Amino acid sequence: MSASLSSRKTDCETVSGKTLANGAQTAINLAAGGILTIDLAALRTNYKILAEQLRPTRAAAVVKANAYGLGIERVAPQFYAAGCRDFFVAHLGEALDLQPHIGKDAAIYVLNGLQPQTESLCADHHIVPVLNSFEQLQNWANLCKMRKRKLPALLQIDTGMSRLGLSEAELNTLLADISVLNMMDIKFIISHLACADNEQNPQNRAQLQHMQNVLQLLPDYPVAFSNSGGSFMENAYHFDLARPGIALYGGAPQENKPNPMQPVVSLQARVIQCRSVAAGTAVGYGGSYMTQTETRIATIAVGYADGLPRHLSNQGAAFYKNTRLPIIGRVSMDSITLDISALPDGTLKLGSLVELIGKHQSLEQLASDAGTISYEILTGLGQRYQRNYINDIPA
Ligand SMILES: *Cc1c(COP(=O)(O)O)cnc(C)c1O
Repeated sequence: MSASLSSRKTDCETVSGKTLANGAQTAINLAAGGILTIDLAALRTNYKILAEQLRPTRAAAVVKANAYGLGIERVAPQFYAAGCRDFFVAHLGEALDLQPHIGKDAAIYVLNGLQPQTESLCADHHIVPVLNSFEQLQNWANLCKMRKRKLPALLQIDTGMSRLGLSEAELNTLLADISVLNMMDIKFIISHLACADNEQNPQNRAQLQHMQNVLQLLPDYPVAFSNSGGSFMENAYHFDLARPGIALYGGAPQENKPNPMQPVVSLQARVIQCRSVAAGTAVGYGGSYMTQTETRIATIAVGYADGLPRHLSNQGAAFYKNTRLPIIGRVSMDSITLDISALPDGTLKLGSLVELIGKHQSLEQLASDAGTISYEILTGLGQRYQRNYINDIPA
């Protein structure tokens, strides 16, 4: 598939626009604060797991926010190669960025809706807007009238999240006169679950019931309802198209349940200095950690500017092989300090790598130590890592 070939590029081949000799490139990789490895085969496998889980429901791929921070031009072709033909982004700009990297037979939908005066651009590029309000419906209908064409769109109904989609009142206005719907080609009616990460939450069933009530009134349209969590709930939640995001990237679709997805991301950070300090020594900004005994410390070259939240201060850990190395002191912008006393002296030295996400510590574990969710960790990882994309589709 040519889209995947054209998307292939050497990582970090320039610095400030200057092309570098190979040796310099190796040195720059060695100088990066960490290595972010993205397993492209795991992305394809995760898509297939979801497609299998959902069949006969179709599985879309949500690739908003630069494919959850992992690089849309490298990630999207993997889902396309695995059979995905429905892609969701948040913004029209993201849709246009995505388009060259997938086949022309794939549909691209814009979740955040349609901004006034962007209707023509959207239609010219065959991007499908999600219409979230009556105003957006009318704007799209006007364009359909002008172009004398039933342009495709999705219609979102708010079933209880109060974020996007037609309110109850707007739905009633629409139902009083549905001629506006007949001017366009509504591909799916969609809604979004607010609590699908917890199957037991009664809001799930309430939203499903709400959706079923709406469908009594608008029976002729296919439906797209579930995100990752909903994709692992009972079939009633699946309808015609599901919109998983986080599960594709290896995140757990539901909390308190084993994660059925393959890990996609691993993150290693480089040691930039080691030291031994006496008992009663302050570590890091604000002196928030005080050593109790003589302590060996490694400073690693990643910080909150690399997406490791400041909430990890004195919280969570890195790993070296099986050894847990607690984070001590505050997370700085460009570095974190680890207590490495559990390792034999000299194990870690300048340039050594420790694991932040990988075999010993899952993305979910790091996120929970940081008081956040996997989504926020992935989308925050930042641009300073050496990014290694492995297991690409064979050329
Ligand atoms: C982000 C998003 C998704 C994907 O959700 P995950 O929890 O990542 O699976 C699906 N639908 C909508 C409307 C979204 O905003």
